[in-house]
Amino acid sequence: MKRIAILGSTGSIGTQTLEVVRENGDIEVLGLAAGSNITLLEEQIRQFHPRLAAVWSEEKAIELRTRIADTDTKVVSGMDGLIEVSILKDTEILVTAIVGMIGIRPTIEAIKAGKDIALANKETLVTAGHIIMPLAAEKNVSILPVDSEHSAIFQSLQGNEHKAIHKILLTASGGPFRGRTEEELLDIKVEDALKHPNWSMGQKITIDSSTMVNKGLEVIEAKWLFQVDVDQVQVIVQPQSIIHSMVEYVDGAIMAELGTPDMKLPIQYALYYPHRRYLPGERLDFYSLGRLEFEKPDMRTFYGLALAYEAGRAGGTLPTVFNAANELAVSQFLNRQIKYLEIMEIIEDCMQAHKNIENPTLQQILDTEAATYERINSRR
Ligand code: NDP
Repeated sequence: MKRIAILGSTGSIGTQTLEVVRENGDIEVLGLAAGSNITLLEEQIRQFHPRLAAVWSEEKAIELRTRIADTDTKVVSGMDGLIEVSILKDTEILVTAIVGMIGIRPTIEAIKAGKDIALANKETLVTAGHIIMPLAAEKNVSILPVDSEHSAIFQSLQGNEHKAIHKILLTASGGPFRGRTEEELLDIKVEDALKHPNWSMGQKITIDSSTMVNKGLEVIEAKWLFQVDVDQVQVIVQPQSIIHSMVEYVDGAIMAELGTPDMKLPIQYALYYPHRRYLPGERLDFYSLGRLEFEKPDMRTFYGLALAYEAGRAGGTLPTVFNAANELAVSQFLNRQIKYLEIMEIIEDCMQAHKNIENPTLQQILDTEAATYERINSRR
C-alpha cells in the first residue's frame, strides 16, 4: 500500500486524485485538507477514512467535528492544520492540489519531513522555487509534476540526459479567447472566461488559462522543475490540447507526450512513478483526429505571458509580485469588482512599482505578497 495525503481534496485535482485512488485500490489516504466545502469533505472522510482532516476556518472545523463524531478522523484547522496534514507520519507522498501560494509553507514542511511531493500547486514553485528545489535535493525528496504539461515534459525526459536538453516546447490551448483582439476582450464576462475549450478545472486556473497567465506561471514552473532558463521554454499554441508538451534535444530530436486531455493520467503517473498503470478512458484515435494545428502565442494582446517571462528572467521577488497580483486580481474579477483586462493591468502596475529582492527568504516572499495585496486594495 502506498500512503498519501492531499491538500485541496475537494477541488478539481483533489477529487480526480481520489478517483485515481478509488480505481487502483492500493493507495491509502491518511490525510485530507480542504478550504470550506465540508459537505464534500465529510463524504470523502466517510469513504476514505483518513486519520486527519483539515479545513481552513476553526468555525467550519467545529461543524465538521460534530458531523463526523461517529468516525475516527481527527479534525484540525488553519495553517497549523494544513501543516499537520502535510507532515503526517507514514505518508510517502503529499499531493499539493490546493490553489494559490498558501501552499508554500505546507509544501516546505512536507519536504523537510521527507515526503515526496506530487505537485499541482504551481503558485508555490513560481514564488518559492529557489527555496523548494534545493531543499528537495538536500532531503532527497522527489517533486513529481501533476500539471499536464510538466508531466508531459517529465515523461519526455525519461532516459535522457539533462545536459542534452536544448529547449522545452510548452504547449498551450490558447484558451477560449484565442485569436481575439484587445478590443474584443473589453467586455468579457466572468461566465465567458470560465468556459475552457478542452479542460474542466477550478475557477482560478480557468481564468488564468483564458488570460494566458497560466502559461506564464507554467513557464516559471518549468524553469524550476527542469532547471532551465525561462528563455529555453518556448510556448506553442496547440489548440486541441493533444500534444501535452515536448522536449527538444541538442541533436534536434523532439520527444512529446500525446493523448486525450485527462488529468487523471498525470496524477496517476506522479503517484506511481516510474511505473505506468492501466487507466480507463478514451484513447487518442489518429484517424479521426486527422491533423494537429500549431500557432505562435499572441503575447501583445495576452501580455500577461510576456510579463511572466520578465518575472521569470529577473527572479527574486518579482515572480511573487506577478503571482500575488494575479491571485488577487482574478478573485476581484470573479467577484465582479474589476473588468477582465484589468487583471493584466494590475499585474503590470504591481511589477513596475516593485523593488526586486534577490534570493528572498520565505518571510520576504510573504511580505511581498502582503505588500502587493495592499497596493491593489489601495487602488479602490
Ligand atoms: P480548485 O479551485 O478546484 O480547488 C482548490 C482546492 O484548494 C479546493 O479543495 C479548496 O477547498 C482548497 N483550498 C482553497 N483554499 C484553501 C485553504 N485556505 N485551505 C485549505 N484548502 C484550501 O482548484 P484546482 O484543483 O483546479 O487547482 C488546484 C491547483 O492545481 C492550482 O494550483 C492549479 O493551478 C493546479 N492545477 C490544476 C489543474 C486542473 O486541471 N484543475 C491542472 C494543473 C494544475 P474548498 O473548495 O473546500 O474551499
